[in-house]
Amino acid sequence: MAEAFDYDLFVIGGGSGGVRAARISGRHGARVALAESSRVGGTCVIRGCVPKKLMAYAARFRDAFEDSVGYGFDPGEPTFDWAKLIANKDREIDRINAAYIRGLEAAGVAVLHDRAVLVSPNRVRLVSSGREVTAANILIATGGHPNLDTGIPGGDLAISSDEMFHLPALPKAILIVGAGYVAVEFAGIMNGLGAETTILHRGNEILRPFDVSIRDAMHAAMEKRGITIRLGDRLASIERTSAGLLARTRGGAEIEADNVLMAIGRTPNTRGIGLAEAGVRLDDSGAIIVDDRHRTSVPNIYAIGDVSNRINLTPVAIREGHAVADNLFGGKDVIVDHSGVPHAVFGIPEIGAVGLTEEEAKRDHAALDFYETVFNPMRNQLSGRDERVHIKLIVDAGTDRILGCHILGDEAPELIQLMAVALKLGATKAGIDATMALHPTVAEEIVTIRTPSRRWRRDEMVS
Ligand code: NDP
Repeated sequence: MAEAFDYDLFVIGGGSGGVRAARISGRHGARVALAESSRVGGTCVIRGCVPKKLMAYAARFRDAFEDSVGYGFDPGEPTFDWAKLIANKDREIDRINAAYIRGLEAAGVAVLHDRAVLVSPNRVRLVSSGREVTAANILIATGGHPNLDTGIPGGDLAISSDEMFHLPALPKAILIVGAGYVAVEFAGIMNGLGAETTILHRGNEILRPFDVSIRDAMHAAMEKRGITIRLGDRLASIERTSAGLLARTRGGAEIEADNVLMAIGRTPNTRGIGLAEAGVRLDDSGAIIVDDRHRTSVPNIYAIGDVSNRINLTPVAIREGHAVADNLFGGKDVIVDHSGVPHAVFGIPEIGAVGLTEEEAKRDHAALDFYETVFNPMRNQLSGRDERVHIKLIVDAGTDRILGCHILGDEAPELIQLMAVALKLGATKAGIDATMALHPTVAEEIVTIRTPSRRWRRDEMVS
């Protein structure tokens, strides 16, 4: 490797993708440095997937206490301590953060707690120390940040998901703007923990990229749990009042809340890191343009994860980081397969999805069979809860291949992870039918749906 440089690989950004790339490169024997200006772990570990899921677990206990009564328990009147949840959650994040740093150091990676800026294709400046270092290869793994600036009066009173993890107290009421992943997940958390929760969304239904049946069913389930969902409207202003915040919408609604959470997407972190100086090209959304081996317009500079804005999910960034390391230093030629990626929304209830939605399948296929089942799971029978599980399989009627599987209900993400394996292996409806059921489970319903609820042939429903 090129001893003319200080390092074989310099990674900018210590999120899940950057850490994986650095660690694997180190294990391959490369001389690696990683710069992170915040905390190693990035969005997912520090202010995303991990703390979010811990808070979602917390929010589900209200159901558990309520449901336990039908099973003979008397949980009394449970109390909840927000400060304790946040402190315990922070301790777990500290543990993972430390484990990430240990993993890097064990692989011989120099971890630099500093902000790195490209000076040229092989040179990086460390902002705090003022030091400049050189590297044969540079990997940009700087992730993204939440969109916040709405340009509306009082817009600076709103917060992003970053702040949700350290609110001083559980809000009594919260307004959430947007209806994507972050909005629906925090709506579940806040409602579950007892906050009066309102979603305000510009579109005509929540969770636009998801399957229509699941979107409708999720909307109904959230409303049933007491979440207010206001569609086709936008935030117009926020003002501070003696009671908290008052949000006004363009449609004329006035919503009082302690917090207004903007959950309106994220933007790649490509500003102020010297990309233009190094000649790295961006697309119209400000994301770094890469080829299928994550190479940017500058041959020795690579980019992975959210900063390249393809599929913005942690496991995808990790695969991409691993591939860069293997390709550069492991003698491999890996191309990451971005098809069949499973998705989950950790709301209450949960959503899991893999493959095509009904809308996407109709666009590309002439003959489809839709298998759908909606049922109240056994667990709810004694508790008296009525929250239905919704399972939908989309099958290509010509080839019998399963094109998509969409599930709403408890543990849907767990089920979908395994359905993603089946789809990756080319699962057919006949194969699903031939699989013996496991009784009594929720998942057995996947292998026991026999009759299509709808058939679609050349642009029309035939039954
Ligand atoms: P999403 O892209 O999921 O959703 C954004 C929402 O905001 C949509 O409802 C969108 O409406 C709306 N929106 C966008 N721009 C505006 C605007 N200018 N004014 C009003 N509404 C607007 O983004 P999130 O912020 O929820 O999450 C960011 C990303 O983080 C996700 O896309 C995902 O990649 C990742 N993530 C993944 C999670 C998971 O895997 N479970 C959890 C959390 C985040 P419309 O539909 O009309 O465009």
